[in-house]
Amino acid sequence: MARTDALVLGAGIVGTSIALHLAKRGLAVALVDRRGPGEETSYGNAGVIEGNTLLPHPFPRGLSALLRVALKRATEANYHLSFLPRIAPWLIAYRSQSALARRMAFAEDMRPLFARALPEHEALIAEAGAGRYLRKTGWLKVYRSDASFADTAPERELASKLGLPHQVLDPAGVQAFEPALAPVFRHAIYWSEAGSLSNPLAVTKAYAARFAALSGLVLKGDARSLHRNGAQWRIETPEGPVDAPAAVLALGPWTPDVLGAFGLRLPLAVKRGYHRHFRPRGNAGLSRPVVDADIGYCVAPMEQGLRLTTGAEFAARDAPPTPAQLDRLLPAARALFPLGDPVEAVPWLGSRPCFADSRPVIGPAPGQAGLWLAFGHAHWGLTLGPATGRLVAELIAGATPFCDPKPYRADRF
Ligand SMILES: Cc1cc2nc3c(=O)[nH]c(=O)nc-3n(C[C@H](O)[C@H](O)[C@H](O)COP(=O)(O)OP(=O)(O)OC[C@H]3O[C@@H](n4cnc5c(N)ncnc54)[C@H](O)[C@@H]3O)c2cc1C
Repeated sequence: MARTDALVLGAGIVGTSIALHLAKRGLAVALVDRRGPGEETSYGNAGVIEGNTLLPHPFPRGLSALLRVALKRATEANYHLSFLPRIAPWLIAYRSQSALARRMAFAEDMRPLFARALPEHEALIAEAGAGRYLRKTGWLKVYRSDASFADTAPERELASKLGLPHQVLDPAGVQAFEPALAPVFRHAIYWSEAGSLSNPLAVTKAYAARFAALSGLVLKGDARSLHRNGAQWRIETPEGPVDAPAAVLALGPWTPDVLGAFGLRLPLAVKRGYHRHFRPRGNAGLSRPVVDADIGYCVAPMEQGLRLTTGAEFAARDAPPTPAQLDRLLPAARALFPLGDPVEAVPWLGSRPCFADSRPVIGPAPGQAGLWLAFGHAHWGLTLGPATGRLVAELIAGATPFCDPKPYRADRF
């Protein structure tokens, strides 16, 4: 096989974007996955490119919210009881990160990546010829209670300080944006700096096709076969071994399966999430994704139908699906929007790869020369894939990175 400069393991939106950015800089790259590009977590998300995001999702606040979750009445979260002892240390760390000062620190650390999210997607979308999937219509968050809307005050204040456009609307104001929504909420915020995709899978595949057009190799292979071969990294593929001086682990929730072999243990957990498509009733439609904040789900218009995505489920990554949240939230979703029949027989299940501080790991693997990490993008992997791709490519190529990568380093743990 010809010379290879870098192996990128994992062809989700993160790995595919990294491979494409490296190929654009003239490197010979092999992108390796056991499946086709974009077919796992990067397929099933709500498709929102959250250029507006400032604060991470907090741990549930107040006794009544905790009780609803504990009693499995919550729509926004679910858990497997047998898994709680294993996830408890992570949940405690996550809770301590939910203090407002820490959420504000997240905003500062992550702003350079979020600010580049939409422009970097637009650049790749343009060269991949995928413009038909991009909607630049923002997204809408609706709030059913005064209290939950009041909780957004710090975020709105920070947005105003940073000049990030957002518009507070009442139900009548929302009618102009989304006439199909019933006024079952009291407040709404329209964030115009977000974009959305009508088919996230097709967009990752378009980026992979663009990578292949730049002479990138898309190979099938098991990332767990990664090992050192002298000064090189080697991966086994059905076409034979491929060696390169640099290897990037971008395996999303599966990254720890490979890291362990190199003695690296990073505290990654997963927030599992479900989706199911529904047909609209009559000719009702949506022009953008809508988040029903108090109930904790998103309804996003997709080519396959209206995609309802759930909040977090705390359970082992590979445990059987338990889509109880979808059943719990469906009556509220039907009250907000005229949903018809489901499209598929069973819901889709995916796993958001999350660190307790909600930041991804992007940068060199400690103590492993030539090994790079890009995973743990939590609720924002689709959003941040192309910006991450650019940052990793700049770091590997020894160019000046477009932002300071320090907050994302693995050795912060
Ligand atoms: C319900 C839900 C809604 C979401 N909504 C949004 C949203 O609106 N906006 C947003 O920005 N983010 C959203 N997310 C998060 C986003 O989808 C993820 O952060 C993102 O897809 C992670 O991308 P990734 O490339 O890191 O991982 P993945 O897409 O999971 O890619 C990892 C790849 O590694 C491969 N792999 C794993 N193990 C091996 C192995 N041993 N050998 C070879 N290959 C292997 C897999 O096949 C896969 O292709 C949502 C997530 C969920 C679950």
